[in-house]
Amino acid sequence: MKETAGPGFVLREVPEPSIRDDEVLIQVRRAGVCGTDVHIYEWDDWARGRCRPPFVVGHEFAGDVVQVGALVENVKVGDRVTAEGHIVDGMCLLCRTGNAHVCPHTKIIGVDRDGCFAEYIAMPATNVWHLDANVSYEIGGIHDPMGNAFHTALTHTEIPGATVLVTGCGPIGCFAVGICKAAGASRIIASDVNPKRLELARRMGAHDTVHPSEAATAVERATGGYGVDVVLEMSGVPAAIHQAFALVRVGGRVQMLGIPAKPMEVNFASEVIFKGITIYGVVGRRMYDTWHQMTRFLRSGEFDPTPVITHRFPLEGFDDAIHAIKSGEAGKVVFEIA
Ligand code: NAD
Ligand code: ZN
Repeated sequence: MKETAGPGFVLREVPEPSIRDDEVLIQVRRAGVCGTDVHIYEWDDWARGRCRPPFVVGHEFAGDVVQVGALVENVKVGDRVTAEGHIVDGMCLLCRTGNAHVCPHTKIIGVDRDGCFAEYIAMPATNVWHLDANVSYEIGGIHDPMGNAFHTALTHTEIPGATVLVTGCGPIGCFAVGICKAAGASRIIASDVNPKRLELARRMGAHDTVHPSEAATAVERATGGYGVDVVLEMSGVPAAIHQAFALVRVGGRVQMLGIPAKPMEVNFASEVIFKGITIYGVVGRRMYDTWHQMTRFLRSGEFDPTPVITHRFPLEGFDDAIHAIKSGEAGKVVFEIA
């Protein structure tokens, strides 16, 4: 839990959540740990401005349904599930035009209400996503960040045959490499400053894995000097964002997932306008296009995120889990809960 407004988490006994008539209670088996959880742990400016302790942290999970509300029809006790952690109003202009991922009234589990680093979590039944029988709880538990990668890689892009640059090979960048590979990209160049993460990107199918200082040469070699068709910006680091604009081809696309910590300067004339590029800002996962894509890719067997998961901890190991992420030694870190 985040018990008070300050750094760290604490382990506490809390009451089992009660559910409303349109909600279900899920016993959590596996939960992914995310950079957002690190922000909440460290209690940085973003966390201070957004979060209201006390609350249970965590937004990536999978488990079993153990109770359903009186109005719930499509989810049953015993179902193996994960869930979309963004709870939207379903009624606003955005929700009712197929854009619920940018609903202005979004509440996020583990940020704005109790989350999943616990034995049980209450979720609206409409947010529940059923897992295929052969999808493990562990993979179910990382659908949220995998969904970020699917959304970024496959929304308004044409990946088959494309040349792709992925800047930033954190867990989401590594998932994106695997997705582009499965979707038929002809060449995937992945950049990161961390050799451990480049190694993971290579295992996920990147053709070239390079330090950012070598990215321009790699792109030039792979594209005859034109630049890549698509950049997936997955670092949030200003230098990488400038590189994304520099290394995308004229008329190409930059899909922006990484979140810069501070405002940054962009030369719109030279970096964007005269290059005729298209920029797409990624928020969460499209509801539920992204989820269907993700399930189909997993079903096909062409995409396997398993190599990205490097560290597993019990809930009691929360300090170690956060440190594993901060150290840069880890890919995806998960809690094994029950
Ligand atoms: P991460 O911090 O684990 O990964 C970022 C990677 O970028 C790291 O491996 C880091 O070494 C690398 N990097 C640093 N400088 C670089 C440079 N100059 N060039 C290339 N790579 C560089 O993060 P993650 O969990 O994989 O998430 C990726 C980004 O996406 C983060 O910024 C995160 O905040 C953001 N995010 C956005 C959304 C959204 O909805 N928009 C959702 C989840 C995460
Ligand atoms: Zn809405």
